[in-house]
Amino acid sequence: MRMIFLGPPGAGKGTQAVKLASKYGIAHISTGDMLRYHVKNGTDLGEKAKAYMDSGRLVPDDLIIEMVKERLEEEDAKRGFILDGFPRTVNQAEALEVLLKSKDITLDAVVLFDVDEETLVRRLSGRRICPNCNAIYNVHNSDYPEDGRCKRCGNGLIQRDDDRPEVVRRRLKVYEEETAPLLDYYRNKGSLISVDASSESDAVLYAIVSLYGGKDDSN
Ligand SMILES: [Zn+2]
Repeated sequence: MRMIFLGPPGAGKGTQAVKLASKYGIAHISTGDMLRYHVKNGTDLGEKAKAYMDSGRLVPDDLIIEMVKERLEEEDAKRGFILDGFPRTVNQAEALEVLLKSKDITLDAVVLFDVDEETLVRRLSGRRICPNCNAIYNVHNSDYPEDGRCKRCGNGLIQRDDDRPEVVRRRLKVYEEETAPLLDYYRNKGSLISVDASSESDAVLYAIVSLYGGKDDSN
């Protein structure tokens, strides 16, 4: 399975990517995780990326692509991969295409997680975090602690400013504007497939697995 997952914040891309990666023993590649890994381990790429991050600038595309390239050379990624939230721009998509072509890799699909705005606002604004240990909860989940305290460390849970409904709406609008050209790019190539991700059940997972068709190469 070789796929790109695209979709707004709160659409559940990461959750499904983790499940599928473990089901098929393939790589879950998220730029956030990759950046953290390189910075934490002080690799050459990490040092370069850190200089940008420390000065509040965006890490340039060629650095990210270099990280993706390295990651694709690892064992699990040779079996398959899910790119989670990458590419974000048409420039990145074009660079990725060159990279994949050079490695003779073909994508199975670019999957768009389709969720209506109200559902996303409800999900994201329900998030609460523990400022002490960074555990994440959601007031809409059945396991949300009744006393509003972290189950791990007992600290009071808070809502991040980013998760306030009006901020969430703004984030979604920015996302939509920024991503529209990227969606067009993949739509024009005929590789974009939408899945209805408004339900949080495993229906999304089955929908994606069925896109992958009978090509079960989980061996
Ligand atoms: Zn905690």
